[in-house]
Amino acid sequence: MRIGVFICHCGKNIAGVIDIKSLTKAVAELEDVYYATDYVYLCSEPGQKAIQDQIKELGLTHIVVAACSPKMHATTFAKALEDAGVNAYLLEIANIREQCSWVHSHEPEKATAKALELIKASVAKVSKAVPLQPLSVPLNRKVMVIGGGIAGIQAALDIANGGFDVYLVEKTPSLGGHMAQLSETFPTLDCSSCILTPRMVEAAKHPKIHLYTYSEVKEIQGVVGQYKVKILQKPRYVDPVKCTGCGDCTDVCPVIVPNEFEQGLGGRKAIYVPFSQAVPLKYTIDLENCLNTRKLVVCDQCYRACGPKAINYLMEPEEEEIEVGAIVVATGYDLLPVEDLKEYGGGLYPDVVSGLEFERLVTASGPTAGVIRRPSDGKIPKRIVFIQCAGSRDPEHGCAYCSKICCMYTAKHAFMFKHAVPDGEVYVFYIDVRAAGKGYEEFVQRVMEEERIAYLRGKVSKVFQRDDKLVVWGSDTLTGMAVEIEADMVVLAPAVVPSKGAKELAKLLKSPANEYGFFDEVHPKLRPVESAAMGIYLAGAAQAPKDIPDSVSQASAAASKVLGLFSQEELALEPLRAEVNLENCDGCALCVGVCPYGAITLVQEEPDGPKHIEVHKALCQGCGVCMATCPKEGVNVAGFTLAQLREQLRAMLG
Ligand code: FAD
Ligand code: SF4
Ligand code: SF4
Ligand code: SF4
Repeated sequence: MRIGVFICHCGKNIAGVIDIKSLTKAVAELEDVYYATDYVYLCSEPGQKAIQDQIKELGLTHIVVAACSPKMHATTFAKALEDAGVNAYLLEIANIREQCSWVHSHEPEKATAKALELIKASVAKVSKAVPLQPLSVPLNRKVMVIGGGIAGIQAALDIANGGFDVYLVEKTPSLGGHMAQLSETFPTLDCSSCILTPRMVEAAKHPKIHLYTYSEVKEIQGVVGQYKVKILQKPRYVDPVKCTGCGDCTDVCPVIVPNEFEQGLGGRKAIYVPFSQAVPLKYTIDLENCLNTRKLVVCDQCYRACGPKAINYLMEPEEEEIEVGAIVVATGYDLLPVEDLKEYGGGLYPDVVSGLEFERLVTASGPTAGVIRRPSDGKIPKRIVFIQCAGSRDPEHGCAYCSKICCMYTAKHAFMFKHAVPDGEVYVFYIDVRAAGKGYEEFVQRVMEEERIAYLRGKVSKVFQRDDKLVVWGSDTLTGMAVEIEADMVVLAPAVVPSKGAKELAKLLKSPANEYGFFDEVHPKLRPVESAAMGIYLAGAAQAPKDIPDSVSQASAAASKVLGLFSQEELALEPLRAEVNLENCDGCALCVGVCPYGAITLVQEEPDGPKHIEVHKALCQGCGVCMATCPKEGVNVAGFTLAQLREQLRAMLG
């Protein structure tokens, strides 16, 4: 065995703190080390070549790279080793940047001593490493996209156009997501439905896209390449094959309830389509509000009115199992309920509305046919106050992040109001305007200057009712003045939050989410559309607040990742997974229940014969819980065996 150690300066990132010269000397003197050297940037082409040259020249068999986190460059160095003829798993990375120079930058001597310990541990671990080969598992080249907003639609179309089958699962009765609720879209002000509807229709008609609307994912098992998914199709109580979308049923239905699509500002019948361009245009009975119970038919007006006899009050939920190799999560966002924003009068006064409610009020197909009327008395408001960052950038509301889209849509709303009510007055309270997209800053400037909108930098402290007016108290931090505005209407830009059910879905997918519940990418810069759970990709606002251009770009990026995955016949998986040691395993089954991925089964080959476990390699994620649980060394994770970990500890603890 010839162990070579390569120590990286990472410019000043490591070398600015750690004494590389003395470290390299100390490492070279370690008993097991055959060769040690340092280099300014090991990840660069010449850096990798330096490693390869020494492997060939000195016949090095095992390599330790002391550099940054293995998350950054483990694959770079593994590839360099493979190209030089050394198995990629005979590589160890000692992280002397994130775990040493960066965190101990004020104690260079101690940092240098710690770097030596970390390298010693890596040398010890690599000395017990054995060559490993990637595992090859069958790959099902179908994909499930969860969420039928613009991001899900785009991802589904891109993958389907690449020639692969897509199951597109949407929980509401129609595709479209929030974009279907928007009037016009910033910064170009093109009509939202005009650009969205053709995409919805294209997705529904695509021969490779299998649409599951009014459906939810109930169960997911398996891993990349081989997921088994149970989809629950909720009963519409209307046979979608027979329903022609004529609407004769809705005309006769006597029940009117608040319309969710209109944010409760308009009504809908108990038999309904969410909006007139819904895809598919199939009616759904909301049984909770229908006069019938499943046992008692009090009303059958829709049944009688329906020509093709599509109504079936006894329809049952249906469960279907599908198998896919990859999953795209595009479940989007919701807004923080205005009721959570009581300080701004949210939930207290009807004329304090959310941005989405305002969208519906300015949309020609909305509840007021595009005439902006205040909800309380239907009057056209003359003075409106917009409040940005309502809950965003505010840890007290649990949303310390920026919601990213509100500055832009508030400018859009202000613009639209001024065009609808030319003699109206608009005040916008903002903390600062973030308009970083293409053409965004220009749009905001145009709104501010040409439309004469008063932007007040500061926070609103209180909104309350005085007669039929809403009084807004705030401060203008630029002038230091307290401000009081008597307005007819207040529009909040509530924080963008993960869609309802996102946390439960993240658990089903075993895909990490951040503290707020948005799905987490594996690396924010280099792998922004991949979840840490392999085979799961992220698109749109499910990952973080996003506008439409970003949602669509990310959806196409997720689709290209799926197409890349599907370009392989079989899937090569990392071999860092559990292996049973048949000599030690006595079948006690302690490890079976602890495996979070259900990868272990207990087997008994003959009726009274000995028992032992088997590991389903594709399911195993190499977490090591079984290895830590087994008291008999009956199971080991390849690349992290007990022998390796013991040796590593021994080296560090002396
Ligand atoms: P969504 O539109 O939220 O779609 C997600 C879909 O997933 C929904 O259909 C939902 O029902 C479904 N879903 C959720 N959970 C599940 C589940 N578990 N199973 C199945 N389906 C599920 N952006 C612009 O670029 N220009 C604008 O002018 C603009 N104006 C806006 C105005 C307002 C008031 C707001 C709030 C946003 C605005 N946006 C605008 C942002 C825009 O709405 C988003 O960028 C876009 O909707 C994100 O698309 P998405 O597909 O990621 O999410
Ligand atoms: Fe409306 Fe229900 Fe009567 Fe049909 S049966 S018309 S959905 S109340
Ligand atoms: Fe028991 Fe260990 Fe065998 Fe699991 S691997 S069944 S814990 S002996
Ligand atoms: Fe399950 Fe063990 Fe694999 Fe972890 S390492 S996933 S516990 S089999």
